[in-house]
Amino acid sequence: MERTDFRDAATGNASKLHDITAAERGSKPAIKMDDRTLTHAELRDRSAAFAGGLTDRGIEPDDRMLLYVPNCPEFLIAFFGGLKAGTPVSPANPQYQSRELEHQLTDSDAQVIVTHERLRDVVAETLTATEADPLVITVGDARPEDVPFEAVDGDPISVDRSDDDVATQLYTSGTTGKPKGVLSTHKNLRTQGFSGVDSGVDDPDDERVLVSLPLYHTTGVYHCTWQPLLKGGCVYLRDPAQWDPADAMAAIEEHEISSFNGVTAMFVDMVNDESFGDYDLSSLESVGEGGAKMSVTVQEEFESVAGVEMYEGYGLTETSGATHAGHDSTYGPRLGSIGQPFRMTDSKIVDDDGNEVSQGEEGELLVRGPHVMKGYHNLPEETEAAFDEHEYFRTGDIARCDEDNYYEIIDRAKDVIITAGYNVYPSEVEDLLREHDAIADVAVVGIPDERRNEVPKAFVVPTPGTSAGEDVTAEDVKEFSLDNLAAYKHPRQIEFLEELPRTTSGKVRKVELE
Ligand code: AMP
Repeated sequence: MERTDFRDAATGNASKLHDITAAERGSKPAIKMDDRTLTHAELRDRSAAFAGGLTDRGIEPDDRMLLYVPNCPEFLIAFFGGLKAGTPVSPANPQYQSRELEHQLTDSDAQVIVTHERLRDVVAETLTATEADPLVITVGDARPEDVPFEAVDGDPISVDRSDDDVATQLYTSGTTGKPKGVLSTHKNLRTQGFSGVDSGVDDPDDERVLVSLPLYHTTGVYHCTWQPLLKGGCVYLRDPAQWDPADAMAAIEEHEISSFNGVTAMFVDMVNDESFGDYDLSSLESVGEGGAKMSVTVQEEFESVAGVEMYEGYGLTETSGATHAGHDSTYGPRLGSIGQPFRMTDSKIVDDDGNEVSQGEEGELLVRGPHVMKGYHNLPEETEAAFDEHEYFRTGDIARCDEDNYYEIIDRAKDVIITAGYNVYPSEVEDLLREHDAIADVAVVGIPDERRNEVPKAFVVPTPGTSAGEDVTAEDVKEFSLDNLAAYKHPRQIEFLEELPRTTSGKVRKVELE
């Protein structure tokens, strides 16, 4: 098939890129899940009708859409529909409980929530707590006050957008604090989606991607779906909550999957599964790992059976996906390295004074490019602090670069624990645990874990007069977290202390806690 000419879509609404693909490859499958298939033309038409339906119901460009739906075709129809309506899309983790959803709902001031029957109770609880009154659109069984997803349709539209208009608002905490809304523009999405990277497969028209990562997160939505869909590929969606390594390998064999992206925990599960080696994984052309440093032994084991060289990628929510990746580098992937920066990405490593370090020395990694966010929603000071005077974004990661311009991530300067690809902000878990009657003080740190890279551990100081192990047990602390926050955030280890080690200025000395 002829290569697509995307020159007409060099400006404006990012969804135009997919319209062009759909005009040429409309009858090809775009999304598959269970026994459902949506073609590229259906994805284009249904998302344009969804956009029209939003407008008919009074949703205006620049109103926010909270997308609180597990991986399913409707997620992508709503995502593309939001772009077409000019309504920035803010995906939320379907594992969130009401306390977590509340922050994203109020911070984004969403006028519309797209949710799923399975999550509707959490939405109801959140709406009661906030007194917000958005339009609720529900996939599956809708309540009388909701609009059923299938009924949203209006006349198809796609509104004009300028480069600087916001397309998505994903949440991440950046280097500090509570989750912040990352403003990615239509230009960010266009460049990341199209000119960004080679997908690493011979024929992107025919790319078949297994998506087991969650769509609310940067890698799932941009790298695993947005990019391949723009090029005419097909995404095979899976529910990450039902992750099963044997099922993933069976799907690779059955659908002749060419691309798979995962976090370390998934590759650990696959190589340790008793069926590893039984499946034919030879259709794989591109296998990437990102989100955290990959274990070299696991990588080598997977490669020996799959017969494909894996690459490590690196990026952040703030860069609308990857900035470095091994497969797109001059000499291909190198074990233990995130590869070279993309052609569109300027990348430098600086010392504490902001001066570039010499080659081979460690420092903070800073990046600049057309895919880097415009800023954090409603947070001008944090936005300013996130960039240096040359408009480079401070990643908060410590890196080193070799003589071939290959980068390696050494450490993280920012306060986040990344567990099986999920971000846990210690301050959020600490704030919750402090609400427990028997807890006076608490500090949460990440400790190493072979499968999940890191897991949260809580150091707990009981309130005076309360006895650890009797009035408050490790089980109580875990349960309190599980009852109030997404499950992956709960401390897997708990240690009781009489007091936390602190600096003279009162800061907890987390380096002393492990
Ligand atoms: P997020 O915004 O959730 O995508 O998280 C971005 C963070 O994930 C980065 O700032 C890094 O700390 C971490 N990260 C992503 N990819 C890698 C990698 N290949 N190696 C080490 N850390 C990574």
